[in-house]
Amino acid sequence: NVRVRFAPSPTGFLHIGGLRTALYNYLFACANNGKFIVRIEDTDRTRIVEGAASSMLSTLERIGLHPDESPKHGGEYGPYVQSERLQHYQRVAHELIQNGAAYRCFCSPRRLSILKKDQRRRKETERYDNRCRDLTEGNIACNVAEGKPFVIRLKLKANFISIKDALFGKVGHNSYFEGDPVLLKSDGFPTYHLANVVDDHMMQISHVIRGKEWLTSTSKHVQIYEALGWDLPTFIHLPLLINTDGSKLSKRQVGKFFSGYSPSALLNFMAYYGSGFPGLRFYLISSYHSSQLVLSDAIVNFSKLDEFSTILTKYILDGNKSELQHMREALYKLVQQKYATTHAVVLPLLTQYKYLNIKLLTTQGHITKLNDLILKEYQYLWIRPEVQILPDHKVFHEAVCSLIRHLNTISWTSQDIESISSILSQHCKENGCSYPNLMKFLRQVFTNKEQGPKIADLLHMLGREETVCRLNNALS
Ligand code: GLU
Repeated sequence: NVRVRFAPSPTGFLHIGGLRTALYNYLFACANNGKFIVRIEDTDRTRIVEGAASSMLSTLERIGLHPDESPKHGGEYGPYVQSERLQHYQRVAHELIQNGAAYRCFCSPRRLSILKKDQRRRKETERYDNRCRDLTEGNIACNVAEGKPFVIRLKLKANFISIKDALFGKVGHNSYFEGDPVLLKSDGFPTYHLANVVDDHMMQISHVIRGKEWLTSTSKHVQIYEALGWDLPTFIHLPLLINTDGSKLSKRQVGKFFSGYSPSALLNFMAYYGSGFPGLRFYLISSYHSSQLVLSDAIVNFSKLDEFSTILTKYILDGNKSELQHMREALYKLVQQKYATTHAVVLPLLTQYKYLNIKLLTTQGHITKLNDLILKEYQYLWIRPEVQILPDHKVFHEAVCSLIRHLNTISWTSQDIESISSILSQHCKENGCSYPNLMKFLRQVFTNKEQGPKIADLLHMLGREETVCRLNNALS
């Protein structure tokens, strides 16, 4: 049974690297009929940012990476927040002491800081000198009886640990010279290494998919698994993300980056730049396989995002409703942000499925970002224009009345809407008014502009209610 997890620490907003890891886990689960789990790793209390966990969870939802199990959805292996699972880590840490793989360390913070200073002065690598490894049973019992605070450290093996990575193959690492790492702090909170391993085991994670920067930690994790007699999961470490100039990718926030692009554009863009194959999301899910991942660092070319976005916009035009739904929701938010404080925004028309479809059609795929849709030139879509009705316009009064009557009876299909031009031209003939001038007048009523989309397209975009409302305003 494939079970994978995305395990962010809530130390800030979700960034592009995190999104890539989440996406690959999600795709892997989808491709293998597995489960995608989200777990919050919040044991480093000093680095927690208020609100970060819930913002990460909602960002994942918003871009369509829906977890099967998470703090929000629950699941049979919960809780999915590490600070709520302390008893498990404490139990395992003591089990590790019992089988000789870990030990209590009573070194005071003062001793550790002197040690550090000495090492710095001697230009040595800063590390714990493993002093408490050799305490006698008597010493330990005495310290415990005195109530001396202690941490629990892993006794690192002095030999090379070889890790089998599904992507990188056999990777050797010797962490012995880093000094024995803390597993459980004196306040009963675990460190990353312990909590991560315990949870991956207890939550029956089959594949650990994470960034390459965790590869060196894996050698310690393997020692914990082995000491406890637990089966190892399959490790898949993902290549680093770098900029086109080879520099390390900055921690761009997904939220900011996302703004204006459709979720699919973003996801496909991310998938492409870490795997070397392009494809649309549904495609990715069915064809995704870790063997298609590449080993070299993945160059992220942000200018490509617009290309993806354009491709997807066209794809949406073929009628993918769920993509459209995502875009509409994002658009709705953008419009609200941009206009709602200064104008009375006409939101009802946004709820019309047709709207986006037609809007995208009329611009023939020139739109790359949702932001393009809320440009000032389209402002009339969201805000009713204030049109000045001049005395000359009185000649169109009758035409507008008959148009309203007509619009109220049709069923608003494309054909129906196209039919208004013959009705209006007939009307002009009978009443001796100019057809081009009438069309100009209507354009003004709908948009307060001289140029723009065809009148029929405008009707499509505005919807029946809004069209009739604007026509009525022109009469009063
Ligand atoms: N909490 C770690 C992080 O913030 C998880 C690393 C892992 O996936 O093991 O990335």
